[in-house]
Amino acid sequence: MKKLLPIICVLLASCAGMNETKKQTKLYVFECGKITVKDISLFSPGVDKGVEKKLTNSCYLIKHALGTLVWDTGLPDGLVKNKKGLTKGAFHLKKMRTLTSQLKEIGVEPSSVDYVAFSHFHFDHTGNANLFKNSKLIIQEVEFNAAFGKDAAKMGFKPKSYNKLNQATAIKVNGDHDVFGDGQVIIKSAPGHTIGHQVLFIDLYKKGPIVLSGDLYHFTKNRKNRRVPSFNYNKKQTLHTMDLIENFVNNTGAEFWIQHDLEFNQTIKHSPKFYQ
Ligand SMILES: [Zn+2]
Repeated sequence: MKKLLPIICVLLASCAGMNETKKQTKLYVFECGKITVKDISLFSPGVDKGVEKKLTNSCYLIKHALGTLVWDTGLPDGLVKNKKGLTKGAFHLKKMRTLTSQLKEIGVEPSSVDYVAFSHFHFDHTGNANLFKNSKLIIQEVEFNAAFGKDAAKMGFKPKSYNKLNQATAIKVNGDHDVFGDGQVIIKSAPGHTIGHQVLFIDLYKKGPIVLSGDLYHFTKNRKNRRVPSFNYNKKQTLHTMDLIENFVNNTGAEFWIQHDLEFNQTIKHSPKFYQ
């Protein structure tokens, strides 16, 4: 027993250390734009035809003891100058604050961010991607190939908004990826909306587990009714992913955050406040 004691102490110390690390992790939510959809049936085929709906656009930062991760970069900061906003096809886009200024407020320079990841490469998620060319890009390999391939525009991507990420170190993954190696921040493959769509699981010490669900759903009513937008990459794959992620959410007891849901977004804390 005497011989075992130091080993047990070392093990306990490392457990305590892990807990200390977990306590330090913070999640910040940023305002990254507002989107008015002129006909919401684009997101729910055959339902609510011609009905206008407002969505929000959000970006996130995770500060972990081993580094920082930006999740989605929203509409471009340049849009803030355009007070009336911009109409783009079926969407009216507006932005009140730049992501850069919100990061600055909490003492973060984009060039110092360790990792950047996107739920997917649609334009409303990659608006400020080029600010993070010094970060390591964590991306599903199929999404990388689509985003940097010749058919990127056909996939609904806007290469100009993220072209500098070509210089970034890319961590191409096929499936789930544990960002800091301790199970606290995990990127989960969730294809269907785009070819390599992914969601983010964060297990916070006080708040508990959360899933940032990208565009798996755009608003609560679509989650309840398992509706798939007409422009999704693959409807069957989306429905399968919905089942897998909903199972995961049930098993982990995670809170499910719909990133574009305006009403939900109004109920959560925004930076400089944070979740821990
Ligand atoms: Zn999307």
